[in-house]
Amino acid sequence: MKLIADTHTHTFRSGDAYSTLQENIAAAAKRQLSYLAVTDHSCLKPGGPDNWVHFTNQRLLPRFSEGVCLLYGIEADVIGPGGKLSVPDRVLDTQDWVIASMHADVMSPRTSEDHTQMWIGIAENKYVDVIGHIGDPIFSFEHRPVLQAFADAKKVVEVNTGSLLTRPNAYPVCRQIVTLCAELGVRIIVNSDAHFSNRIGDLASGVSLLQEIGFPEELVINADEHRFRKYLEHKGIRL
Ligand SMILES: [Zn+2]
Ligand SMILES: [Zn+2]
Repeated sequence: MKLIADTHTHTFRSGDAYSTLQENIAAAAKRQLSYLAVTDHSCLKPGGPDNWVHFTNQRLLPRFSEGVCLLYGIEADVIGPGGKLSVPDRVLDTQDWVIASMHADVMSPRTSEDHTQMWIGIAENKYVDVIGHIGDPIFSFEHRPVLQAFADAKKVVEVNTGSLLTRPNAYPVCRQIVTLCAELGVRIIVNSDAHFSNRIGDLASGVSLLQEIGFPEELVINADEHRFRKYLEHKGIRL
């Protein structure tokens, strides 16, 4: 399986990452990616940039650089019930790509029932494209009702290779989630969550997880140029 996009990456503007956008683009070009999404943290994450100035001004940046198509987005934080996010809708509306994630330094882990309700709320948030690093075991949730809600709302679930590397015990949870995604027909995307340029496009551990369970390739939106482009067109992004 050849992946053509990495849509969860950070620059130094996130506060906890260390490369410039230019360095990330060069790394994406070297890995022969067709698409790179820059998705810095929102301002609630310690060290994150201003929600308004940083993210809305991304529209001034180029769509193509070094042969890579650039998407500008944000990794927003889930902060409460009903799918509440750390970023106002008027900012989310300006973004090419929105990931919703739970982070322990923004929201302390709650009960599995609370996380379940939050994810079901996120399924109804029209601005969210991707559910970020959902396999983090500290934010446990009831898999079947949540993934069914994502299937119904056509949200994309992320396989985050950064989690597989750094979050203890994430692998078995990711495996269970991805297996259920295959059963329910939930589309997925494999992303690096790179916080340094050398990890841009580092997606092999995600691919091997998918191969291990025989995940249907047609549900992997970054495994095919045409499929990925169609997703962008459906969002109204014209390249
Ligand atoms: Zn994250
Ligand atoms: Zn991230």
